[in-house]
Amino acid sequence: MANALHNAAMSFGFPSLSTLRTMHKDKNIELKRMAVAIKAKSNSDFDDSGVDISLSHRVDAVKPSKTLAICDHATALSQSGVPVIRLFFGESDFDTPAVIAEAGMNAIRDGYTRYTPNAGTLELRQAICHKLKEENGIIHSPDQIVVSNGAKQSIVQAVLAVCSPGDEVIIPAPFYVSYPEMARLAHATPVILPTHILNDFLLDPKLLEDNLTERSRLLILCSPCNPTGSVYPKKLLEEIAQIVAKHPRLLVLSDENYEHIIYAPATHTSFASLPGMRDRTLTVNGLSKTFAMTGWRLGYIAGPKHFVAACGKIQSQFTSGASSISQKAAVAALGLGYAGGEAVSTMVKAFRERRDFLIESFRDMDGARICEPQGGFYVFIDLSSYYGREAEGFGLIENSDSLCRYLLEKGQVALVPGSAFGDDSCIRISFAESLSTLNTAVDRIKNALISLSS
Ligand code: PMP
Repeated sequence: MANALHNAAMSFGFPSLSTLRTMHKDKNIELKRMAVAIKAKSNSDFDDSGVDISLSHRVDAVKPSKTLAICDHATALSQSGVPVIRLFFGESDFDTPAVIAEAGMNAIRDGYTRYTPNAGTLELRQAICHKLKEENGIIHSPDQIVVSNGAKQSIVQAVLAVCSPGDEVIIPAPFYVSYPEMARLAHATPVILPTHILNDFLLDPKLLEDNLTERSRLLILCSPCNPTGSVYPKKLLEEIAQIVAKHPRLLVLSDENYEHIIYAPATHTSFASLPGMRDRTLTVNGLSKTFAMTGWRLGYIAGPKHFVAACGKIQSQFTSGASSISQKAAVAALGLGYAGGEAVSTMVKAFRERRDFLIESFRDMDGARICEPQGGFYVFIDLSSYYGREAEGFGLIENSDSLCRYLLEKGQVALVPGSAFGDDSCIRISFAESLSTLNTAVDRIKNALISLSS
């Protein structure tokens, strides 16, 4: 009987009993080895009360946020009575326009406080489709939209949905701090392509072409760009599109979160509106920046149904639908008319005055190089000529991190080091603050820099 079973097993291609015994023995040895390795690792990860405090490899792969580190430092100084000016926020200083806020409050009053569909309400997705058609020249249907808790969630879900381990995510630098970390979360490899201040921080198509391989899965474009304020001209996007078209595996994520915070004559072009690009572009946008709605947490992704549905699948197991109240407010925001109507143009006018003020203030300063931002509310300024100088009672200014620490301690102005965005020669100044505050900040920064000895 045993022999018959043995023969039958062999005839189906199953391993013989003796092979199984050897495999079992090998498996035990392997398990013992793993146990020793786990014990060796976990010995150092146990806290005093015997709890295993080790974290996943996923967390270990992600860098901590430098903006948060600056924020903590600035808060500690403020709490000890130092009047710190905080110019590190990626947040408008304006309040949400009243009609939008009112729509949110009405939603609460009307009991519109329950779960919504995972992808967002049909009413909002229809409003987004209308906006994309009128403002961006992109035709999508509501089933090609997923509404999330902010553009950030839309981006990370897209990265997780399309990237597999070993895939490459192409990211021009300077970049929005989260892109490379999102790639790492997906076990993909960020491939950073540097740009240069002399070239308005715009991606050189030749550099892109030279760096694309069969592993390249996603190119992330951000226009207007955080932190540089660069706006990609249509012609350059067309050149990029021609290169992208040669790579069937390559998708594009177009982050258009600052779309309407733009300074004429610069104009915004949506990558998906370019010929042949709609079927391989994931367009991400949000309400945070344009409508001063950071706290409402609302953003969305639009693109080919296949990919967008995958983003929705991930969201359905993470957070489900975004806030019902914020979605009602978003419908009101998108109803304000083309580019957000007067409510938005008033804010953009104020940002433009502040940008002009900062450009004027730093243009002729010795040792500073500046590229006029065409959008967004940041100036990314090259102060690397100050590296290598000494500050009394502080020490050596080595890089953008130590320069920012120095400007915080000596000048009492909190800024973000360029290293956080992949360009150590610069620092980022946010001008989402009043002109009078910016005036004081400029004086403090200049005085602190002047007192650096060469
Ligand atoms: N993209 C860019 C370029 C950003 O600067 C930000 C926020 N600073 C986001 C996406 C995320 O915005 P939110 O999640 O608030 O919509």
